[in-house]
Amino acid sequence: LPLVSVQALKKHFFLNKHQTIKALNGVSFEIHKGETFGLVGESGCGKSTVGRTIMGLYPPTAGQVYIHGKDIHQASAQENKIRQRQIQMIFQDPYASLNPRATIFEIIAEPLEIHRVHKNKNDLRQHIDSLLKEVGLNPAHAHRYPHEFSGGQRQRVGIARALALEPDIIIADEPISALDVSIQAQIVLLLQRLQQDKKLTYLFIAHDLAMVKYLSDRVGVMYLGQMAELASSHELYTNPLHPYTQALLSAIPVPDPDLEKKRQRILLKGELPSAINPPAGCVFHTRCPQAQAICRQQLPVWQEHAPGHFAACHLIAERNR
Ligand code: SF4
Ligand code: MG
Repeated sequence: LPLVSVQALKKHFFLNKHQTIKALNGVSFEIHKGETFGLVGESGCGKSTVGRTIMGLYPPTAGQVYIHGKDIHQASAQENKIRQRQIQMIFQDPYASLNPRATIFEIIAEPLEIHRVHKNKNDLRQHIDSLLKEVGLNPAHAHRYPHEFSGGQRQRVGIARALALEPDIIIADEPISALDVSIQAQIVLLLQRLQQDKKLTYLFIAHDLAMVKYLSDRVGVMYLGQMAELASSHELYTNPLHPYTQALLSAIPVPDPDLEKKRQRILLKGELPSAINPPAGCVFHTRCPQAQAICRQQLPVWQEHAPGHFAACHLIAERNR
């Protein structure tokens, strides 16, 4: 049984009588226990909406989210309470997600107090001390406020808070993209160490493929509310099938100068279309260098082209026929 199963998920936001943002338009994938699943796409592709729907923050317009086999949007209040402990989130901007008027002790204590984890103040203090140590912060600084910490340290506070309830899965929504490059690697290493120590599962959301390459066991590439391609990290980077994935990969500089000279950048024409009025047929057809007549009319089917390697594209389907 997968830890998370997302089935034909749709999420539409109704702006007014005439306008609907189609943030998600039929997304399916699974996350297995202990893996890191990287979810990648340009801003506005719906990747954060996937994260928030799995968290239970948004009810789906259609489709299901199962956690440990249970449909979370059909769950009882009691089941919801248990689930809230199983899934936690880390955000892109730890400063915006941490209450500036609370000490880091209070920030980390909040979920523990809501769920009445500790019977007395002493147990709570010891737990918070050990959480701070685990993320590389000094427990003696627990009385300080978020603004007294650097960006990287604040992200460590966010991670400590996410760990407090001993979740099974952490949804990390661009957790390092707001940090200095020198700090990014430290946070990635911390997340990897915590994963090993605590057998955590991650949904790691990012806007570029380079960032998730070394972190992820499997990667899903999203475009305009749909999944374009999904494969193991190795398979996706060595044998990308979808023209959008190929374009994203071609944008990543190669460290070897000789290879870098030979790198052929695939440039996408035009702008990302609006999710209010997404293109008919294949949503990528307005920018796809390989688009055919059929792409403007027919939605390509989401198909498994090799074991565990899925993509939605008319050309690949044709090649396999
Ligand atoms: Fe490009 Fe057509 Fe494939 Fe869409 S279905 S990615 S437009 S070739
Ligand atoms: Mg986002």
